Amino acid sequence: MIAALDIQVTKTAKSKINEIDFNNLPFGKYFTDHMLEVDYANGEWQKPVIRPFQNLSLSPALSAIHYGQSIFEGIKAYKDRDGHPFIFRPYDNFRRFNISAERMMMTTVPEELFIEGMRRLIDLDRDWIPMKSDYSLYIRPFMFATDDTIGVHASEKYKFMILLSPTGPYYSAPMRIYVEDKFTRAARGGVGFAKAAGNYGGSMMATAVAKKRGFDQVLWMDAYEHKYVQEIGTMNVFFVIGNKVITPDLESGTILEGVTRDSAIEVLRQEGYEVEEGPVHIDDLVRAFEAGELKEVFGTGTAATISMIKELQYEDYTMKFNTDTWKAAPAVRRILMDIREGRRADTHGWMFKV
Ligand SMILES: *Cc1c(COP(=O)(O)O)cnc(C)c1O
Repeated sequence: MIAALDIQVTKTAKSKINEIDFNNLPFGKYFTDHMLEVDYANGEWQKPVIRPFQNLSLSPALSAIHYGQSIFEGIKAYKDRDGHPFIFRPYDNFRRFNISAERMMMTTVPEELFIEGMRRLIDLDRDWIPMKSDYSLYIRPFMFATDDTIGVHASEKYKFMILLSPTGPYYSAPMRIYVEDKFTRAARGGVGFAKAAGNYGGSMMATAVAKKRGFDQVLWMDAYEHKYVQEIGTMNVFFVIGNKVITPDLESGTILEGVTRDSAIEVLRQEGYEVEEGPVHIDDLVRAFEAGELKEVFGTGTAATISMIKELQYEDYTMKFNTDTWKAAPAVRRILMDIREGRRADTHGWMFKV
């Protein structure tokens, strides 16, 4: 029984909510009053606690720090027009979290702990969900290895936590993207499909180099040939070619299986687009662009939902787009926003009531 999850709750003596300027919410900077924390030890999950947001005290020999068994998720909660909180597709993130855990040789988290723990934490801090369009509460579940001996092996102890962070409209201006020809993010057989902490540290240099050259992000290519498109920064990528929409398939295990990606595919099909998942070769994109058939390029992810791409730089070749005339990307963005904020019927069963 989900509702029976036994959580020890210690409430804050004084809320910080009045210290926050809700008109100015840089992504990931402010956290709500409480956090959820639970340890895995002696082969079982201990009693979860919800307590005031605070620092942790950890051993400097912590295995997560030395060997990187550390995974996370990103989810958003919204309020509907009556002010009731809803979480967008938390079960999909729950499943992906445990896929990441298994790949990193970590223990998995029971559904009850992940979902009901999240629900209870959000219920307690529900006043932190802004009731303004495009505002939301970003949910960050994460888990890391807590063995305190220095030896390379899978940890026997873990800590699972959930933090909440109020976030404002994440307007992403149309981006200039560099098609990455040197660095790679993930190779077949690796951990690209996992939301594992090290994947992000490993990708920062490519982004920094691209930014120095005036680009916003890189388009990752496959690690072997540098020919097959993977994803953009931390977003999945879609191309509208003629009347068809294509996005890289997940078969290689080198791409993160985005919940927004899946939502966009569903919404596009409902809107009458033919959507194809398959290998996307950069030469085919160039050919389509030259024929005037490459109409839209956009990224999908929880943070921005949809980010339009106004320029793709592939070696010496520049592909420019006039995003004002686009149809597919703005439609997906509008429809997903309307579902999340309760203006459109949730026919997919995506909104989980807190
Ligand atoms: C999180 C993430 C995405 C997007 O996934 P969503 O579930 O849509 O937020 C895409 N690519 C990478 C590398 C990611 O980490």
